[in-house]
Amino acid sequence: MSKFIFITGGVVSSLGKGLTAASIGLLLRARGLNVRMQKLDPYINVDPGTMNPFQHGEVFVTDDGAETDLDLGHYERFAGVRTNRQSNYTTGRIYLDIIERERRGDFLGGTVQVVPHVTNAIQDAILKNAAPEVEVNIVELGGTVGDIEGLPYIEAFRQFSLDRPVDEVMFIHLTLIPYLRASGEVKTKPTQHSVQKLREFGIQPDMLICRAEVPIDDEQRRKIGMFCHIRTGDVIIEKDVDHSIYEVPLLLEREGVADKICKHFNLATDAPNLTQWEEMVTRVIHPAGEVEIAVVGKYMTLTDSYKSVYEALAHGGAANHVRVKIRKIEAEDLEKDGVKALEGVGGLLVPGGFGKRGVEGKMLAIRWARENNVPFLGLCYGMQCAVIEFARHVCGEAEALSGEWLEGGKGNENQPEYITIMPGQARVTDKGGSMRLGAYACQLKPESKSRQLYDAEVVRERHRHRYELNPEKIPTLEQHGMLIAGRNPDSRLVEIIELPAHPFFIATQAHPEFRSRPISAHPLFAGFIKAATEQGKQ
Ligand code: GLN
Repeated sequence: MSKFIFITGGVVSSLGKGLTAASIGLLLRARGLNVRMQKLDPYINVDPGTMNPFQHGEVFVTDDGAETDLDLGHYERFAGVRTNRQSNYTTGRIYLDIIERERRGDFLGGTVQVVPHVTNAIQDAILKNAAPEVEVNIVELGGTVGDIEGLPYIEAFRQFSLDRPVDEVMFIHLTLIPYLRASGEVKTKPTQHSVQKLREFGIQPDMLICRAEVPIDDEQRRKIGMFCHIRTGDVIIEKDVDHSIYEVPLLLEREGVADKICKHFNLATDAPNLTQWEEMVTRVIHPAGEVEIAVVGKYMTLTDSYKSVYEALAHGGAANHVRVKIRKIEAEDLEKDGVKALEGVGGLLVPGGFGKRGVEGKMLAIRWARENNVPFLGLCYGMQCAVIEFARHVCGEAEALSGEWLEGGKGNENQPEYITIMPGQARVTDKGGSMRLGAYACQLKPESKSRQLYDAEVVRERHRHRYELNPEKIPTLEQHGMLIAGRNPDSRLVEIIELPAHPFFIATQAHPEFRSRPISAHPLFAGFIKAATEQGKQ
């Protein structure tokens, strides 16, 4: 039978629960186990697709086109699992389904309630993501124990465990052991309280993972265990790592987390194979050099808004044995102060985005990279901006623009839409899930640099966009030296553009960052960092 691990968090939010869950996934997979992961988010939005990046951070897109929580990115990158639509449920999604069923009369006039209808729907969602061949399902609950909105989930977990043998369900609770600098001591009380809270709901954690800033000695470990009714051996200390988040799985391995989980589940496994991961961590911690990359976007004060992009850049660094330093630049600042802020970087990356704000700054940066032979990688909106910049300054179409900037209007001869709405897409829409979403194929031209980097003729990448390179403008762009490097074989939509006369100028309509992994950097990112490193040496 499949086993289930439920991971909850206590004391404070932002403890790195997703990272810890993903690390456990990696450690179990390193033992040859078939693992799946799922995130349950207690908020009422149906999915994060329409949420503001300031509120939610990046929207992670799966192969099957679901717009999901960014923790799924950790699951894919660390645990190497593939996620899909079933891997992320929100309260909004659960309720939407129940309410639609109620309106259809599926409940035959019965009263529809949180218990049992919502709690049953949560358990169904958990089972939907499970499959007979999956040996361990890891289910992470967003938020903190005690949050009102999280209660139905905790109740669902309790009921779920009641129906199953002890060695099929495990509860892991992640908490914080704060260190008080003034008195020089660590405090265990908040952890005691958060475990008490879980127990109030009928859940006794089997393992406690304590995030701590400073080392925790054995006596304190014993004390935490005693007050929380957890054997000392099952109190795990996850001390802050020194250099890189990629050290977290290795730290948890040293703490014996995965062995203890396997013991709880009565699972006999192979010895873990973490060699590749360890080698990657060594390369990251001891780089042979450094390269600085400018990222010009809109939400630069937030580390989470371009999470997968920053991660993919780090992977590209690991592949080239260099540390990637990121210079975050607000596109609007470039509009005010000019391109001086870009000087000295080895490469420029312009990530995805929406709306008109900041586009002129992005195009200033792209023009600077193009004219100064600085390696450039454009992602989605970054590609669209690169095409318009090229149309304006190379093809002589000074007013070239994207249909996205016209607020419902249409371009004309004087204001040509080099980027235009895709067939079948509404010009203005506030509904989620309405874009071209998920994995689509791209056929690469033999002479393109992308073909060489990918080392494949047809590749599949994930998408999230509504606009495309206007196919009518392809001849003009080509005449002026742009290479249409890749197109979708079915719709003929332009997927990748390149400038062959430039040392490295590649922009893609897709989001390759979602497929990059620490131990296997995405080829476009690996190639980009290589080019940027060489540029830096000149
Ligand atoms: N706003 C652009 C579009 O909808 C690009 C989207 C993106 O960068 N994800 O096509």
